[in-house]
Amino acid sequence: MHLLYPFAKRFIAGEDPHTALQAIRRLHDRGFLSSADILGENVDTREQADSARDLYIELIKKFETIDIPMDFSVKLSQMGLNIDRGFCRQNLATILTTAGRNTVRFDMEDSDHTQPTLEMCLELHSQHKNLGQAVQAYLFRTKADVDQLIERQISVRLCKGAYKENPSIAYTSMEDIRENFLVLGYKLLKEGNMPAIATHDEYLLQKILSFVEKENIPPQSFHFEMLYGVARDLQNTLLKKGFQVRVYTPFGKAWLPYTIRRLLEKKENIVFVVKNLFKEFFGLRKIK
Ligand SMILES: Cc1cc2nc3c(=O)[nH]c(=O)nc-3n(C[C@H](O)[C@H](O)[C@H](O)COP(=O)(O)OP(=O)(O)OC[C@H]3O[C@@H](n4cnc5c(N)ncnc54)[C@H](O)[C@@H]3O)c2cc1C
Repeated sequence: MHLLYPFAKRFIAGEDPHTALQAIRRLHDRGFLSSADILGENVDTREQADSARDLYIELIKKFETIDIPMDFSVKLSQMGLNIDRGFCRQNLATILTTAGRNTVRFDMEDSDHTQPTLEMCLELHSQHKNLGQAVQAYLFRTKADVDQLIERQISVRLCKGAYKENPSIAYTSMEDIRENFLVLGYKLLKEGNMPAIATHDEYLLQKILSFVEKENIPPQSFHFEMLYGVARDLQNTLLKKGFQVRVYTPFGKAWLPYTIRRLLEKKENIVFVVKNLFKEFFGLRKIK
């Protein structure tokens, strides 16, 4: 087993659809919505993209039978964007058609993929109204992208952004990223179609809660969205306050790149991993 798996387990709902389905059911029973994500990105072959597409189709069909309203998050590089755009488009169209009344949302990847992802979203949304898009507050371009998505009434998930980007195209200080997040978040809450505010940052959440109260934004007109295994106390608090909370629930065998992004987001995560490696290496486990 990979050395990082004990850490990964905290952030992923297992490696197969069955365990993910159980985790999503448990979340649903407690009042949470979910966005299911099959882990995988930057595939090199058509076969890999086809099999990722088929997994999504299988998953969507499983959910039809249990009737839980779902979001399905998809990365375009997992559907073959780096191989051939037309091929990727066809895979996405198949998923969107199968999803029916459930939402399919494009995750936003690193900046090499921003423009093609948005173009694909605008193109496919004309035939598939169940398509939503994630955007990143750290990119300078996102303000213009949000305006365009609002104009088309495409549902947007706003997050800070998880990749290392060049300062020529992205804010790099926490202060600037937060400021832009709030400008975009307020606009989406007022003018967007069912936006999702995707952060665990208490500073931002407090500002958003004050804005929602001051502007009388109905709790049913947007979602808070957080990652599986992160800030579970805040997820519960927002739910208790009467807001809709969606939990982004990734699963699958290709968990390493996702886990590394989560690992780098908090220094305590690094400490956790190092402690585990230390225990394993020196045979210090209590249960032997
Ligand atoms: C629902 C959802 C979908 C996302 N989709 C995308 C996407 O499509 N593209 C993209 O680039 N990024 C995506 N992200 C990731 C996002 O861009 C950030 O990297 C991530 O959310 C951390 O930023 P934050 O706003 O929570 O603030 P931070 O300042 O990073 O975190 C605030 C607090 O949250 C807690 N926290 C945050 N992350 C962790 C962690 N890994 N482990 C433990 N505690 C943590 C800590 O208490 C931390 O102090 C998504 C995030 C969410 C919540």
